[in-house]
Amino acid sequence: MSRPVPKPGILDIAPYTPGKSPVPEPGRKVFKLSANETPFGPSPHAIAAYKSAADHLEDYPEGTSRVLREAIGKAYGLDPDRIICGAGSDEILNLLAHTYLGPGDEAISSQHGFLVYPIATLANGASNVVAPEKALTTDVDAMLARVTDKTKLVWLANPNNPTGTYIPFDEVKRLRAGLPSHVVLVLDAAYADYVMKNDYEIGIELVSTTENTVLTHTFSKVHGLAALRIGWMFGPANIVDAVNRIRGPFNVSVPAQLAAVAAIQDTAHVEMSRVHTDKWRNTLTEEFTKLGLTVTPSVCNFVLVHFPKGGSKTAAAADAFLTKRGLVLRALNNYGLPDALRMTIGTDEANELVIEHLREFMAQP
Ligand SMILES: *Cc1c(COP(=O)(O)O)cnc(C)c1O
Repeated sequence: MSRPVPKPGILDIAPYTPGKSPVPEPGRKVFKLSANETPFGPSPHAIAAYKSAADHLEDYPEGTSRVLREAIGKAYGLDPDRIICGAGSDEILNLLAHTYLGPGDEAISSQHGFLVYPIATLANGASNVVAPEKALTTDVDAMLARVTDKTKLVWLANPNNPTGTYIPFDEVKRLRAGLPSHVVLVLDAAYADYVMKNDYEIGIELVSTTENTVLTHTFSKVHGLAALRIGWMFGPANIVDAVNRIRGPFNVSVPAQLAAVAAIQDTAHVEMSRVHTDKWRNTLTEEFTKLGLTVTPSVCNFVLVHFPKGGSKTAAAADAFLTKRGLVLRALNNYGLPDALRMTIGTDEANELVIEHLREFMAQP
């Protein structure tokens, strides 16, 4: 008997292996530093707005997320008609792949790029072409060298997760200039709020002046609304029009829209988080380096820490040691980085504990 067969590409996707559930020693407080969530939660105004939606759960949302598009437009100086909101940027990334990729097409992403990109590519029957990185950083020349007449889309997280590195806006422009004009360039700016570099830009200028570049962003990171699933894209009219045709008519819930509007208006909450992150990024990098570990220079709300490949001080051993003590970092075997752990910057208490326990780990025989 025959049975249903998934479309080409689906079974090429590696099954998702969820992060292990932490089992700390009894009595330990658990700090989840594995998913790049903010330790501060959302703005209190966002929580109040979310609760206010409870009075009218019988009503469908306004389908285009108009109030949220207007709030984003105001915050970034963008035309709300060029914005699409989605159930997380995950949905937006998948809609873009669904709109532009099919069997026989190729999409390029970088060696340690975000895992959602190859999934979205393969799910649409297209091939995932990987460009090697230099020093764990996107290599524009390597990406351009992989362009063929089948290339339809290029994924670029800038800055990138899980490496934490970024490329200057000049390099992004050089990438765009080197790509054929029919190739969509997706700039994923999920961590943009944490970057404190003069040569970094999220890419509004490029999106505004081309017909082939989109910018995606999320409320999951600095705004602390990951549970609600809200992301957005800013794009040229032609791409917005195409993507809107396949977007679900009510894809963002009312509580999500209202909470996000309040979150984006609370600039003090965002600034507090940026300052805390910047301070701890420096401190953690210094302290881990003093322990003899290598830290990839990060511009994000996490740091990538490299451990010796052999002996008793491996990343896996450190992961087990810290997990026992309630400190849950992210192992990166599925990103091809088995010798590194990614640590999301947490509260003062959590960060201090990681330093203290890693010091203890490194001092063991
Ligand atoms: C966290 C993250 C996102 C955000 O995803 P959501 O679906 O909006 O929660 C997007 N891109 C990258 C690279 C990320 O790390």
